[in-house]
Amino acid sequence: MTLAPDADVLPPFENSYARLPERFYARLAPTQVRAPRLVKLNEGLARELGLDPAYLASAEGVEILAGNRVPGGAEPIAMAYAGHQFGGFSPQLGDGRAILLGEVIDRKGQRRDIQLKGSGPTPFSRRGDGRAALGPVLREYIIGEAMHALAIPTTRALAAVTTGEDVMREKALPGAVLTRVAASHIRVGTFQFFAVRRDEEGLRALTDYVIQRHYPDLAGSENPAVALLVRVIDKQAELIARWMLVGFIHGVMNTDNMAISGETIDYGPCAFMDTYDPATVYSSIDEHGRYAYGNQPVIGQWNLTRLAEALLPVIAEDREKAVEIAQEAINAYPGKFEAAFIAGYRQKLGLFTIEDGDPALVRALMDAMAASKADYTLTFRSLLEAAGDPVADAKVRALFGDPAAIDSWLATWRGRLAREGGDPAGRAAAMRAVNPAFIPRNHLVDEALAAAVDNGDLAPFEKLLGVLARPFDDQPDVPEYMLPPRPEQVVRATFCGT
Ligand code: AMP
Ligand code: MG
Repeated sequence: MTLAPDADVLPPFENSYARLPERFYARLAPTQVRAPRLVKLNEGLARELGLDPAYLASAEGVEILAGNRVPGGAEPIAMAYAGHQFGGFSPQLGDGRAILLGEVIDRKGQRRDIQLKGSGPTPFSRRGDGRAALGPVLREYIIGEAMHALAIPTTRALAAVTTGEDVMREKALPGAVLTRVAASHIRVGTFQFFAVRRDEEGLRALTDYVIQRHYPDLAGSENPAVALLVRVIDKQAELIARWMLVGFIHGVMNTDNMAISGETIDYGPCAFMDTYDPATVYSSIDEHGRYAYGNQPVIGQWNLTRLAEALLPVIAEDREKAVEIAQEAINAYPGKFEAAFIAGYRQKLGLFTIEDGDPALVRALMDAMAASKADYTLTFRSLLEAAGDPVADAKVRALFGDPAAIDSWLATWRGRLAREGGDPAGRAAAMRAVNPAFIPRNHLVDEALAAAVDNGDLAPFEKLLGVLARPFDDQPDVPEYMLPPRPEQVVRATFCGT
């Protein structure tokens, strides 16, 4: 069978970002690779995007996913941005190993970026090779899809292909390209790029573009730049609260890794916590725990303050006035975060009403978990069983090194539930919908990546993806996927792979 040229089978790409001034990006095509091979195609996402999965899986489609063939209408670019990395500012970062092919309008009418990550050097590569290794590509695939299934806003993986070429890290590793789908790839660091250059025109153009693309309801605001800042603060407060509620640690919350759309972006040395400890850090490059689990809300505010600073020239002509307005927006963040955080924990604990003592109830549970090194995910999953039937209290107690430490908490919680009333089965069902049984535990992710990279065995990767696609369902056939690591399985560090 001969395939029609891609113009007939793929909808035309759009390139609204490439209509912005030339200094926003560099125009270049992805670098050719030797022997592209499809490792995984996200067929459901392809359909959502209006892209034919059968075509994407064809030889011609795989050429596109590997960067060997630019699809009809696409104007490939590498985006320019700056960013604070671990607190230090780099005025010039940019897509050093990614190419934005363009945008498609999905089935719901949403504009989505299609980006190749690992597609070769760009003018922004600095000393990097522009490439990605298979392990980190599959890690981003797994975690992004897991986050999506957990209903957390995220960029997603459309495909992973190997290139047939090695990339040199500590050793030679199989090279790969990830096709990443995002609401957009505009970051806090994109605003910083123009701010540091005192490029007010660029800032204005970017602000207008972002409002039009992501938040058109703000276009008529009295001060659109402030409205945008407030909206991004709202989105990030909500997003980071959602991370906290599933034990997610981003690992590299640099300002270039914070998306203006409110999606989670850039899964490098990220991880889900097993035993509850707010000081948990996995990233091998985070020596001082800047991006530890419990530090994420504060870092969120730090990053948003950098966004506010970048926006000052477009907020008001008078600098002092602009600072005052921006400061007020930033000052609202802790309250917004706390509200989202406590609302989320009320749901996790089966509480439908609001009582003043709820934050203390949440904190007491955290303290008990921390003192007993209880597994975060299993604690909440067994609490939902206990909500349905107090006999299951035994399951909760078994997770705590010192069961007495949780007994008094359980008694307080039961008292709180009694005041609230309602039927236990309904409460358990509501709790089931927000307390996952399955998260991408580090040891499972590592096992799946090792099998794929070391042995070319994709079965564990596929099986893990399948389990993580239904995180809230009981899946009695795979009990081992619910369990924390045995001592010899514990993963202590995760790596960027860059
Ligand atoms: P990340 O830590 O992945 O968020 O990347 C931070 C910056 O380093 C971005 O500008 C990336 O484009 C760049 N970068 C990361 N890895 C590479 C690589 N292998 N080659 C070129 N640039 C890279
Ligand atoms: Mg990044």
